Amino acid sequence: MRALGVIKSKILVEENIISKCGKFILESVKLCKVLIISDRNVAKIYLNIVSRELEKLGFQVQVFLINPGEQSKSFKTAEKIYNSLTLNFMARCDLIVSLGGGVVTDLSGFVASTYHRGIKLVHIPTSFLAMIDAAIGGKNGVNSKYGKNLIGTFYHPCLVLIDPLALKTLPPREFCCGIAEAIKCGCIGDKKLFKILENQDFYNNIEEIIMRSIRVKKNLVEIDEQDFGSRVLLNFGHTIGHALEKIGNYKKLSHGEAVSIGMNEITKISESMNLTRFEVLPRLKAVCRKYFLPTHNNFPSNQLQEAVLHDKKILNGYLNLVLIKDIGEGFIYKIPDKEFINFLKNKI
Ligand code: ADP
Ligand code: ZN
Repeated sequence: MRALGVIKSKILVEENIISKCGKFILESVKLCKVLIISDRNVAKIYLNIVSRELEKLGFQVQVFLINPGEQSKSFKTAEKIYNSLTLNFMARCDLIVSLGGGVVTDLSGFVASTYHRGIKLVHIPTSFLAMIDAAIGGKNGVNSKYGKNLIGTFYHPCLVLIDPLALKTLPPREFCCGIAEAIKCGCIGDKKLFKILENQDFYNNIEEIIMRSIRVKKNLVEIDEQDFGSRVLLNFGHTIGHALEKIGNYKKLSHGEAVSIGMNEITKISESMNLTRFEVLPRLKAVCRKYFLPTHNNFPSNQLQEAVLHDKKILNGYLNLVLIKDIGEGFIYKIPDKEFINFLKNKI
């Protein structure tokens, strides 16, 4: 078992921890009512194990299932969950257990933080992205018609249980999505993690990869919990990535695929500005390809420029770009948006 603390959350990583989750949850909270929130795909595989575990120990378990997919991350779904919590007379001392990917952890975190101004929360992330990213660091959110994750809070689960064996049932495309974020973590803050992803067998090193990715996020989140400064480094590949996702209407590219292209394209630009060492780009490209992630943008350049300009991260005509000097060395580079758009025109 590997353990780590991130702000107020205890994080445990161990194979098969899902089938032993009851005892770890009982170490963190007293016996109470529990609402397990999951999606229908994940529930088919893991719900019985988790609810049986909790009931065995004396928890009173209720379940709320959502449809899989981003469209469930809405106010409408949140409201249905609030109603379910109310009808089950759940109070602040009771518990929400999220069981699923990033959609489930984000939505559950938002509901947990707002119901009765904060009810206890345990995450059991089952997708790779949720294990190393969504369930870590306390950000949650729902989407509005104006954009993704526009409404949310910072709220920390007391416990995060990560079972690498759950990845065995994850569809391959979802898996690669998470790998893009792990590569990102290696790029901005952990050379060794990058090397493991680059040279070693993924499954033989899965716990190490999860722990190292979480540690990169932990280090940035703990000095910048509310996302004003160094946490920005976690956006490496995301300025272009978000724009690409948007152009593709969130259908053509998954988040991970878009981030993979974003990391490669931004590094191409920073290399041309002499801000990145020359060995970096070929290594980045190769590691992305190893995991079947795309590295090149196929959308028309003018659409990309427009989408980047509309991104909320442009402040007073300047953009805070996240670049890497070398593998493991991320930094923030402030650039006038017009200059950046010129680079997009000429280099991509
Ligand atoms: P993400 O975690 O990438 O943010 P989702 O929460 O939408 O996004 O999860 C991605 C998809 O993978 C969903 O369809 C979800 O039901 C499915 N999923 C998540 N974890 C598992 C798992 N361990 N086994 C099988 N399917 C899973
Ligand atoms: Zn991301």
